[in-house]
Amino acid sequence: MMSSQKSFSIEVFPPKAPDAVAELRRIRAQLGLLGPKYFSITYGAGGSTQQGTYDISLEILNEGFEPAPHITCIGATYGKVREQIAEYKRMGIHHIVALRGDLPSSYGEIGEFHYANELVEFIRKETGDWFRIDVAAYPDMHPQAPSLSVDIANFVRKVKAGADVAITQYFYNPDAYFRFVSDIRKAGVDIPVIAGVMPITNYTQLARFSDMCGAEIPLWIRRRLESYGSDLTSLRAFGHDVVLDLCRKLLEGGADGLHFYSLNRAEATARLWRELGLKNG
Ligand code: FAD
Repeated sequence: MMSSQKSFSIEVFPPKAPDAVAELRRIRAQLGLLGPKYFSITYGAGGSTQQGTYDISLEILNEGFEPAPHITCIGATYGKVREQIAEYKRMGIHHIVALRGDLPSSYGEIGEFHYANELVEFIRKETGDWFRIDVAAYPDMHPQAPSLSVDIANFVRKVKAGADVAITQYFYNPDAYFRFVSDIRKAGVDIPVIAGVMPITNYTQLARFSDMCGAEIPLWIRRRLESYGSDLTSLRAFGHDVVLDLCRKLLEGGADGLHFYSLNRAEATARLWRELGLKNG
């Protein structure tokens, strides 16, 4: 299913504090003006709850946008996933993002699903073509994979299990994306690969995320970000230029779309979106 139309979308996460839920509504209103193809809503990441993911998905649906709630394998049983997808079907949601998730310290074991391909296979078996199923991809390789070729073989399993679209982990080297796409095309995968984009607004947070998820921050970017210290204005100006340039290279090189990790903030994503002149078809 190679799409000729590029897709531009945004990720949000369900906040825990009630006042942050209200703040997210305000941020979504700003992000909504950009016309995203859909909003994806994380699950479990940073301690967010299943209920939070349902609630925000429903709000997004009622605001007239397409929600794409995430589902993970962490602590999941066949019965629980069956209930989750039945609930999303009842809500009229047709799009989910299926992930393995990462084991938080409070969980003893992963559950009945061990890898995302098993989750994709189960959802397809249970619901046929009701859902568009997106899965994760790692241009810099998943940090637990023993090698890139094994990681690609595992990615191919998810596609064979029924995934429609891939969304990548963020990265700052466009070559990593193009090489990854070329490798999976050689492996016979033709689904769209949407590039995940992380705006740069806070070095400490970005460095922490990147250490956790294995996304490389090239040294020349790291060094400059470090040198700004507490000068956030200069850091954000530089971060904006770097990510703008990355997005331009991706689009010019034929990337299937961009998915912005908004971190529940509007400004950096909106500025990039507008300067790139993004429009969904
Ligand atoms: P998998 O595809 O299962 O891969 C995990 C690892 O296992 C890889 O190293 C892979 O090579 C290997 N592997 C895969 N299949 C097999 C197999 N059958 N046999 C042996 N090895 C295998 N996390 C959350 O907790 N909540 C979220 O909402 C969330 N959203 C995300 C959205 C995106 C777009 C991305 C890129 C990541 C997201 N994450 C989220 C993080 C994600 O859960 C982690 O990166 C996790 O470590 C891997 O998830 P996955 O679905 O890619 O796993």
